Amino acid sequence: MNVKPDPQRTIRELKELRSLTGDDDGAQRIAFTDVWATARKWYRGLTEGLPVEVTTDAAGNVWTTLHGESPRALLIGGHIDSVPNGGWLDGCLNVLAGLEVLRRIASQYDGKPPVTVRVVDWADEEGARFGKSLFGSSACSGNLDMEEARGLVDKDGIALPDAIAEHGIEFDRVLDSGTELKNAAAYLELHIEQGPVLLDLDLPLGAVLGTFGVERHAITFRGQAAHSGSTPMDRRRDAFLAAARMSPEIYQIAARSKGGVCTIGSCTTKPGIVTSVVEECRITLDQRHLDGDALARMYAEAREASERFAREGNVEVSWERLWHIPPRPFDPELIDLCDEAIRETCGTSHRLPSGPLHDAAEVAAAGVPTVMMFVQSLHGISHNKIEDTKEEHIAQSVVALDKLADKAIGWILKQAARS
Ligand SMILES: [Zn+2]
Repeated sequence: MNVKPDPQRTIRELKELRSLTGDDDGAQRIAFTDVWATARKWYRGLTEGLPVEVTTDAAGNVWTTLHGESPRALLIGGHIDSVPNGGWLDGCLNVLAGLEVLRRIASQYDGKPPVTVRVVDWADEEGARFGKSLFGSSACSGNLDMEEARGLVDKDGIALPDAIAEHGIEFDRVLDSGTELKNAAAYLELHIEQGPVLLDLDLPLGAVLGTFGVERHAITFRGQAAHSGSTPMDRRRDAFLAAARMSPEIYQIAARSKGGVCTIGSCTTKPGIVTSVVEECRITLDQRHLDGDALARMYAEAREASERFAREGNVEVSWERLWHIPPRPFDPELIDLCDEAIRETCGTSHRLPSGPLHDAAEVAAAGVPTVMMFVQSLHGISHNKIEDTKEEHIAQSVVALDKLADKAIGWILKQAARS
């Protein structure tokens, strides 16, 4: 039987969700709020009548399971939560496209596919309310820092454990959600690119190689405050001068790294007045690369440069690591299958890394073979109500995800036969 997914239905559902949970400023499905709960209730409604089981795990992730001949499971993931004033596609496209694929598989196999297929709506991917993203997926992967999460509060002073309790989630049990990955054989996630790469190449879809590793540091230069009128230029110990020289340097470092990115995102000075040479200058540096060695090199080069500039300017420098995460490369065989599915759908594919983190990074970290597919973002922009993707590209993304799901099921069966 040749059953096909109906991408137009996905587009209709995306618009319905937008009018149900958005306003003039964009999507308002912030996790652990009433609007988010409304969106999830609406989603559950869509699953009625399908031969599936819908369950919520210990971390609040919602699983829609189509049981197959084998418990080995193909997972398709997304997140229905959004940032405040968010776009209409970020996260929910993945969930609704996944549901459409699930419908196609259910009808093709008369409710019993050869492997189990599960669509997961991760809880709080965005971290918009508590400032910590990937809550549900990191609980599931076992990487959630419980002590840190316990202490998180929103802008109204409500603690995360209290906020999630209102949605039936018991904080001390969230890591129990890890059992959901027990039979996971592969994980797929479709996402809008949120950047301009596919747009600039004029391609609808791309296969994602993995998510960037991140090194995030604060760098503090310390010199000496001195009067801006009486201090000759050659007598100054200007902390800002040394810090400022880092700015062009990181562009060189990024260029040499072949594919990495570096950002100085903030700069503060002390005493910070117009009539004084800067005594202390603190900048933050965010560096990302898909290759762990290249990332380590970028970090070492920045550090070496900062020490050189400090020496030359007769100031001191110290580094403080704010955060880091290793790169999460995706599964090479699944990347190949993703490429194939894209080429069969629209002729040309392109491979690209993901700058932003996604739930897929957590699933990959848990050891589940993973791949993501990106669909072009118009304006190359997201986390904004102007976020958009051509409807024809949305439709192609559903078709390609469906083809990829088919290939992944074949891949899982082949692996089972091998072992
Ligand atoms: Zn997202």
